[in-house]
Amino acid sequence: MSTRIAIVGGGYVGIDLATAFDDSADVTLIEPRSHFVHTPAMIRAVVDPSLTERALIPYDKLLTHGRVVQARAVGLDAGGVTLEDGTRIEADLIVVGTGSSNASPFKPDGDDIAGLREANRRAYERLKAAKTVGIIGAGAVGTELAGEIAHAMPDKEITLISDEEALFPKKPDGLGKALARKLRKAGVRLILGQKAENLESTRAPFSGELKLSDGSEHRFDLIFPVLGAKPISGLLEALPDTKTARSGRVEVDPWLRPSPALPNVFALGDVAETGDGMTVVGATRQLVWLKATLKQVMAGRAVEDLLQYAPWGSKAPILIPLGPKRGNSFLGLFTVGNFITRMLKGEDLFIKKYQKMMNRI
Ligand SMILES: Cc1cc2nc3c(=O)[nH]c(=O)nc-3n(C[C@H](O)[C@H](O)[C@H](O)COP(=O)(O)OP(=O)(O)OC[C@H]3O[C@@H](n4cnc5c(N)ncnc54)[C@H](O)[C@@H]3O)c2cc1C
Repeated sequence: MSTRIAIVGGGYVGIDLATAFDDSADVTLIEPRSHFVHTPAMIRAVVDPSLTERALIPYDKLLTHGRVVQARAVGLDAGGVTLEDGTRIEADLIVVGTGSSNASPFKPDGDDIAGLREANRRAYERLKAAKTVGIIGAGAVGTELAGEIAHAMPDKEITLISDEEALFPKKPDGLGKALARKLRKAGVRLILGQKAENLESTRAPFSGELKLSDGSEHRFDLIFPVLGAKPISGLLEALPDTKTARSGRVEVDPWLRPSPALPNVFALGDVAETGDGMTVVGATRQLVWLKATLKQVMAGRAVEDLLQYAPWGSKAPILIPLGPKRGNSFLGLFTVGNFITRMLKGEDLFIKKYQKMMNRI
């Protein structure tokens, strides 16, 4: 009998792993949403809503042998996963990739794909009507959003506000400096080292007055709060002896297991404190390791005899397009500019790659 693998969450972790074992194991992917959400494209979708339909990809063609169960998992134990309606999915190996939530209109609220479409359309309409735009948070999403709006709607007055003193302070200096220079050249005003103190919402766009930590006040027709990802950790936190890190991610052992009581349960991606950032880039490295590890486990090896996971560390790449033409990227050893960023990501935003993975093209 082939190994039964239950995968909880059909994000980047879930779809990759499910596809990899579709031919060699009995795979069940548990995911409440009707569509996979390809996040990198959801930023440009704010200025080009026609992208939304290509960024939201149905699960129906993902697997040939295994199955996608459209449901929410509410519990798990060594023998399997329990769904919201009480159904049991029995499994030998369980992988949890419940990911994270983020602000509207970038990720759905729960499984509400129709709501995400509507939020995207509304944000676009409000953006078109706005003259002044504030973006709070200059991580990858905020920085890319400023670049996308500056490229597609050059008449907007855009202000990017961060409580850090520089863009991408944890990466080599050149990356943040080059991006800041390009944004300023495109007319974006950067306010660094200032915290917004009276955000009306941290989860959805709004308009109004912002007070910053230096006491200054700024009025914007539209404000996008982009303050980072929130891990969806409840399922793992309910397992015996798990610990939640300050990041909100659940700690894992060197073989990416969250609970000492459940040696056949693995967790990775945004929900797990793996040592990597909350990125697809991080999840991709973990997936390479996990796929090799599970193959050996399925061949009868003990997990503790296998190689431990080693995170990216300071070599984690990051690609930051500022619209389809410009941008900068750090590729692990060096920083590159417009041309390579455009070829690697800016032009297509990996949409074709994920359409292909979901068997749509
Ligand atoms: C706007 C935006 C742009 C981004 N761009 C990039 C980029 O260009 N490059 C990059 O490397 N990273 C990027 N990221 C980060 C990237 O999206 C995340 O790191 C990635 O989604 C993590 O993958 P995951 O599989 O861990 O979780 P997710 O993609 O969050 O998927 C988790 C899945 O689990 C499901 N789930 C949750 N709870 C349950 C449950 N109880 N039962 C069953 N299923 C459940 C959810 O419905 C969801 O489908 C971006 C993020 C955002 C918000």
